Amino acid sequence: MRIPSPSRFPWSGRGILAALAWLAPAGLAPAAPVFDRAANLIVFIGDGMGLEHVVAGHCHKGAPLCFEEWPASALVGTGSASGLTDSAAAATAIATGVQVYNGVVSVADPGDSGDLQTVLEYFQGKGKRTGLVTTDYLTGATPAAFAAHAASRYDTDVITNGYLARTRPNILYGGGGIDAAAAAEAGYQVLSNSAGMAALDTASATNVCGRFADGAMPYEYDGLGEAPHLWEMTSNALAVLGNGPAGFFLMVEDSGLDLASHANHTPRMVQEMRAFDAAVQAALDWATNRTDTLILVTGDHETGGLVVTNDNGAGADPGVEWTSTGHTAVDIGCWAWGAGAGYVGGAMAHTNLHHAIVAASLFQSGCEVSIDTPTNLSMTWRASSGEVFRVETTDDIVSPAWQPLGVVTAAADTFTIIDSDVGTATQRFYRAVSLP
Ligand SMILES: [Zn+2]
Repeated sequence: MRIPSPSRFPWSGRGILAALAWLAPAGLAPAAPVFDRAANLIVFIGDGMGLEHVVAGHCHKGAPLCFEEWPASALVGTGSASGLTDSAAAATAIATGVQVYNGVVSVADPGDSGDLQTVLEYFQGKGKRTGLVTTDYLTGATPAAFAAHAASRYDTDVITNGYLARTRPNILYGGGGIDAAAAAEAGYQVLSNSAGMAALDTASATNVCGRFADGAMPYEYDGLGEAPHLWEMTSNALAVLGNGPAGFFLMVEDSGLDLASHANHTPRMVQEMRAFDAAVQAALDWATNRTDTLILVTGDHETGGLVVTNDNGAGADPGVEWTSTGHTAVDIGCWAWGAGAGYVGGAMAHTNLHHAIVAASLFQSGCEVSIDTPTNLSMTWRASSGEVFRVETTDDIVSPAWQPLGVVTAAADTFTIIDSDVGTATQRFYRAVSLP
C-alpha cells in the first residue's frame, strides 16, 4: 500500500461538520515527501494576529513570511461562548477543543466548571516534554490556557500553582507573573536574561523557567535590553525539549502584537510581526529535515481592525488604517507545515485546531473530503488497486470508540466511501484500516 503525503482537504464548514480522515499506516515504501505521525507538535499563536497583520509583516520584510507559502492553510473563525472572543477563551478553544466564556482558562464554563484537559496535558500523559514560550507575563491568558485551569484569567495564584505544582511544563519562558524564588523552590532552573539562557546546558536541563521581565516583555521595536528575542527563546526551548525520548509539545506566543494593535501603534506591530516570523523560522530550521514534526501557526483573534492600504517596500512600514482599538470578529488564518499538516484546510473553528493537533499525533493524513448533500460526507482515499479497507468512524478523537462504516475494495489507486448518516454531527473522525 502506498502511504500518501499529507494532502490538504476542505473542511466542511465552521461549526457544522469538521471531518478528519486519514489512511491507516501500512507496508510499502512511499514516494517522498512523506511525513510520519507527529511526535513533536509546535503551536505558534500571534495574539491579535489577523490576516492583515501578516500582510503588514510581509510588506516590511519585502517577501512572504516564512509560513505564508506552506501548502496547508485555513481560514479560522473566531468567537467564544461570549461572542467576540478574548485571548483566554480563544486559547482554551485551541488547547481543549471546547468553547468557553471570555476570561475562562480551560474549565467548563458554560458547563460544570470542571477542568478541561489541555493538549499540553494530553501530550504530557503520552510521555512528551512540554513547553510554553511567550512575550507576555508567564501567567498570561494564552499560555495559562495550555497548562492551568482557572475560573478567571486573573487568578494568577491559581495559574502559578497549576504550572509549578501540577502540570510542571519543562520550559516556561516569558515575562513575569511567577516569582523567581517560587520557581526555584519548585525545582526549576531560573534564568533572567539572554546571556543566562545562552549559557544553559540544554543537554542536561529538564525544567527551566526563564523570567525575562517583571511584567510583559518589551516590544521588539523599543529594544529588548538583556532579554532574549522570541526566536532565541524558541530555539533554546527546542534544544531542551528535543532531548526528550517521546517528542514534545511547545506553544509559542507573541503577545506584543495584540498590545501594539490595541494602541494602533503601527511600527511596534510591524516589528512584532517580524519577530514572530523569525521565531517560526527558528522552529522551521530545527524541523526542516525531520518527518515527525508539525508546526502550526495561527492567532487567537484579530485586534485593531487593521487594513493595509499601501505597500511602502522592504524595510518600511506599510500604510495602514486602524478601524478599532479592540478585538474584531473577522476570520484569521492558520498555516501548517509537516506531519499532519493535511488536517488543516478550508474553513475551521478554533476548536477544530485542537482536533487537528491531536489527530496529527495519531495518524497520517491522506484523504480528500467533500460534502455531497447536507448529510452525505464523501471521502476519497488513496490506495493501491485491489486493497481492501474497513472504514471506521468515531465522534471523539481523544478517547475514540471506533464504529465500522463499511468495507471497500480499491478499484484503482483510490477508493471512495460515503457516510450518508452524518446528520447534525458537529464533528466526526474516520480512519481506513487495511485488511489482509
Ligand atoms: Zn487583546
